[in-house]
Amino acid sequence: MSSELLSKLLDLLGPNGLVTEASDLEGYSIDWRHLFPGKPLAVVRPANTAEVAGVVKLCRAYGTAVVPQGGNTGMAGGAVPDASGTQVVLSLSRMTALREVDPVGMTLEAEAGCVLKTAQDAAAAVGRLLPISLAAEGSATVGGVIATNAGGVNVLRYGMVRALVLGLEVVLPDGSIADGLRRLRKDNAGYDWKQLFIGSEGTLGIVTAAVLRLLPQPKSSVTALMSVPDPKAALDLLACAQDELGDTISAFELMAGSSLKLVEKHFGLRRPIADGDWFVLIEAASSLSGLREAAEAALGNALEQGFALDGTVAESGRQAADLWQLRERITESEAKEGKSVKHDVSVPIPLIPQFLVEAGIALERDAPGTRVNCFGHLGDGNLHYNVLIDGHASDEINRIVHDVVDRFGGSISAEHGIGQYRVAELEKRRSAPELAIARRIKTALDPEDLLNPGKVLSRAERA
Ligand SMILES: Cc1cc2nc3c(=O)[nH]c(=O)nc-3n(C[C@H](O)[C@H](O)[C@H](O)COP(=O)(O)OP(=O)(O)OC[C@H]3O[C@@H](n4cnc5c(N)ncnc54)[C@H](O)[C@@H]3O)c2cc1C
Repeated sequence: MSSELLSKLLDLLGPNGLVTEASDLEGYSIDWRHLFPGKPLAVVRPANTAEVAGVVKLCRAYGTAVVPQGGNTGMAGGAVPDASGTQVVLSLSRMTALREVDPVGMTLEAEAGCVLKTAQDAAAAVGRLLPISLAAEGSATVGGVIATNAGGVNVLRYGMVRALVLGLEVVLPDGSIADGLRRLRKDNAGYDWKQLFIGSEGTLGIVTAAVLRLLPQPKSSVTALMSVPDPKAALDLLACAQDELGDTISAFELMAGSSLKLVEKHFGLRRPIADGDWFVLIEAASSLSGLREAAEAALGNALEQGFALDGTVAESGRQAADLWQLRERITESEAKEGKSVKHDVSVPIPLIPQFLVEAGIALERDAPGTRVNCFGHLGDGNLHYNVLIDGHASDEINRIVHDVVDRFGGSISAEHGIGQYRVAELEKRRSAPELAIARRIKTALDPEDLLNPGKVLSRAERA
């Protein structure tokens, strides 16, 4: 049966489009964090939307599940198959075309496999900004960031990916193609169905192309690294910066001193200011003149008021990039340091200092010996509260941290999604009516549960 399917897939896609050799399957079989090893029946690499539709129809006819995969940088194990050896991974790696960049209409149209950095660079080349920015942008794809509704460092100013998608083309689980590649700023004509697919992690349809919204490229930017006495002072600094610099602030990232020590240890990168317990990386950007003076005045003010202890403002693009390296290398440094449990949580912004105190107390009490690597998008209330686990069980650490998140009315997945990693944790927290909505949507679009089964919702829950 499976050999018949493979032979039909070969007829459809040709030898470049079908991977079956065990050694070639490896890269597609395991997630970036190496937590979820899977075993695909095969990997298909369609070259266009019609081929994606053909694959989905064929797999459906054989009752075979399809797992969409972009850059495979996801943090929740969503892009890899299970270990049954029966699922087909559909890689978008041959659908990388950047179809159009329109500097007047301020839109960019790309195929789903286009790497995010390529799309950013194409926008910049015509003086426009694609403000989706994350440390994995050199590998993450347009389809992947849409399927996960990714966040990143610019959410504070520009919103999540959802806010930047104007049009979408999706192959549905029955193999039909929903072509919504419109480039309209305003379109209230009926249900905005594309929203269902943004953030659905490949469980409702396969994104094959998208139209993204661009913005003017700011002409100047200021990047500063500040050390702050504690997270409460970081919030005071945020308020002060917002009062004085308004919506020019595009990033406001909190980093524990211990996180920067990991970066120094594993990448040899040193922070250029005095040691401290907490640091904030701030970026502001504008096309109007006077930004630098205003930023320096605001940060000087923060120092005077004691919200910040020390700080530096980058003097060049090179220095700004070096400051960003400190932030962007934290995830990789953590991976080099040892086994960790990641928590991608959000809580209401004013409650962050108290959340950090209570989560720390809970871990010290119930999981002694663990170390916290905490950093994240403070301006969005989103922290990566990761725990180096020192022999403790992952489930235990998850429970401890997520219980505190619950007490603060927070979310257990602010931007990384649910994948297979957090399905049980999500289902524990959603009310029966909320789960019923999710199940009805899934069943309406994918009644046979053949598109990325077991991700976002458990399989049993859908029955
Ligand atoms: C160092 C590092 C830093 C990161 N920083 C951030 C960050 O700041 N913010 C953030 O939000 N994330 C971050 N991530 C996570 C990750 O980069 C994002 O989730 C990204 O959106 C995934 O894109 P991808 O192309 O790699 O998708 P994949 O990992 O391949 O897939 C992710 C999910 O989307 C589905 N999918 C992929 N392509 C499609 C498609 N075309 N159609 C339908 N479904 C599809 C997959 O099935 C899977 O469920 C980071 C990851 C790393 C490694």
